[in-house]
Amino acid sequence: METRTKPLDELISTILSQNTNDTNRDRAFQSLRERYPTWELVRDAQSEKVIETIRMAGLANRKGPRIQQVLREITEERGDLDLGFLEELDPEEVRRWLLHFHGVGPKTAAIVMLFSLGQPAFPVDTHVYRVTGRLGLRDATMSVEKAHDHLAQLFPVETYYEVHLNLIRHGRQVCHARQPACETCTLNDLCAYYPSLPN
Ligand code: SF4
Repeated sequence: METRTKPLDELISTILSQNTNDTNRDRAFQSLRERYPTWELVRDAQSEKVIETIRMAGLANRKGPRIQQVLREITEERGDLDLGFLEELDPEEVRRWLLHFHGVGPKTAAIVMLFSLGQPAFPVDTHVYRVTGRLGLRDATMSVEKAHDHLAQLFPVETYYEVHLNLIRHGRQVCHARQPACETCTLNDLCAYYPSLPN
């Protein structure tokens, strides 16, 4: 069942998620919310304190200032931190608007669009990238940035949410980065990588 998060919550959470796992991302997000009940307080807090609060997410020296910078830029541009206006824009406008912030790339923009706004976008994280490459759903040398548009065109829009989540689950549970469980994988008869394995 699809549940939507607030766009700004999703944006901050996705910045926190870079190069860490979901548990540490969630702990850092929770810690931030407990110390600063509003995003305005995070924006105006001392940089060192924000860094200290999100330390468990890793790369806190980068993520803290990046989060505060995005919050300041949104405020300068919009006058406040209400992202409700995004609901009224078409997907391409939303994508462009999100991408113009420093530190917001195609994956972050697509996550906010898909999970918060219910708009058509196909986020490509490390699992989605690896699994689609092995299955042969994209060219092996395609960049992760290009894979966003390519996979968005490959799958029907109404399936984005489920396909994204299922690819992540498959990557975590079966198609591991180091030792994919190919022998027992239910997709091995469809996979481009499997036949290349030594017998
Ligand atoms: S057969 Fe192996 S490489 Fe292909 S999708 Fe399954 S686990 Fe991944």
